[in-house]
Amino acid sequence: MLNKVVIANRGEIALRILRACKELGIRTVAIHSEIDTNLKHAKLADETVCVGPASAAASYLNVPAIIAAAEITDATGIHPGYGFLSENADFAERVEQSGFVFIGPTAETIRTMGDKVSAIAAMRKAKIPCVPGSEGELDNDDKKNLKIAQKIGYPVLIKAAGGGGGRGIRVVHSEAALLNAISLTRAEAEANFKNPSVYMEKYLVTPRHIEIQVLGDGQGNAIHLGERDCSMQRRHQKVIEEAPAPGVTEKQRNQIGELCVKACREMKYRGAGTFEFLYENGNFYFIEMNTRIQVEHPITEEITGIDLVREQLRIASGEALDYKQKEITFRGHAIECRINAEDPRTFLPSPGTITLYHPPGGPGIRVDTAIYTGYCVPPNYDSLIGKLIAYGETREIALARLRNALDEIVIEGIKTNIPMHQELVRDPHFIQGGTNIHYLEKRLTL
Ligand code: ADP
Repeated sequence: MLNKVVIANRGEIALRILRACKELGIRTVAIHSEIDTNLKHAKLADETVCVGPASAAASYLNVPAIIAAAEITDATGIHPGYGFLSENADFAERVEQSGFVFIGPTAETIRTMGDKVSAIAAMRKAKIPCVPGSEGELDNDDKKNLKIAQKIGYPVLIKAAGGGGGRGIRVVHSEAALLNAISLTRAEAEANFKNPSVYMEKYLVTPRHIEIQVLGDGQGNAIHLGERDCSMQRRHQKVIEEAPAPGVTEKQRNQIGELCVKACREMKYRGAGTFEFLYENGNFYFIEMNTRIQVEHPITEEITGIDLVREQLRIASGEALDYKQKEITFRGHAIECRINAEDPRTFLPSPGTITLYHPPGGPGIRVDTAIYTGYCVPPNYDSLIGKLIAYGETREIALARLRNALDEIVIEGIKTNIPMHQELVRDPHFIQGGTNIHYLEKRLTL
């Protein structure tokens, strides 16, 4: 087993990783930026190393400083969490070249999956259903591109191969707008992701976002842990997630899950990963793969009883998978609300000091957060400050518990999106289940 791990992240996921390490008897090193000395996990870690000033570019993205932190503390592995360097193939490579274990897939896998064009090509090869599209990067041949769009049928999407976090996506409704949209997206992609490659995809009008969690041991063994429905989105960013996805049958789950497992076996996938799909009229269409732990992983843990971060650490230690596919069973229902430090109406970030925090509780309630009374949310990073997860034997029970917990939780001193969640968990369409990816945005503009 790894004996000391550098946690190359901050906030709730850093604390989540610290807890898993402690359970396994792994010693921990918390890296942090200059303004992050008060992070909860840093106070609980065996050692801490300041890796740079507040700006993420100078600290949590500072590769040499993070590797140096592993060197001076004599660590064996580095866990990247999500965001920051978690899907940076060059980082994974540098970590391994420096003699540490990267707790995630190989740099090669991250590189293939990080470029959406090569990811889609790999999926097509593995017989995973994909969205009808350009089947490769678009070149500068206007005539050809107009033809591809005509064949796919409008509306189409122009997407950056290197895009992420909901950025680098543009909808085109008619032929007149196509060529301009391609050059705009290309320029943006070059500026934001240093990769001008773009591709075209059919714009699905009313899909749901459903994703499959997988675990692979890097030796060709893999299992899936069912699906999550992440259709409640704002600006392509997830707001509420639930597992299982309402209406998805066991047969559908097994079919798509098996395809993902097969793909993982073929690429000898190592670690935790997620295949993201759009789901429309009973069909799944692959959009991308995330080669890391995801924000919404707890809902899968709740319904399977499997600790995904623990599995990541075990796999990185070279151990075999703890479970066989037939041992994976799904029980009950779990729903997660992402709690952000932001104005619930304008969505503007709301950093500052939390003057009072009271967590909710009771059966089936889990709060993954690193906040505490007196903690100051810095303005420099993502606004996610915690996740409220409710579990119940049925979706109704999970929802009832979630409603109670949202009414119980107290966070004072900063604004949060809790009022929005309080409304959403009482929304008749959400209560019914199965809303599509546009539902939340439409509701918010009413
Ligand atoms: P990112 O890496 O930025 O998260 P994704 O490819 O995962 O990009 O897409 C993010 C979101 O954009 C999806 O969850 C979905 O809401 C929307 N989206 C992506 N592709 C399509 C498509 N072909 N049709 C309709 N919506 C899409």
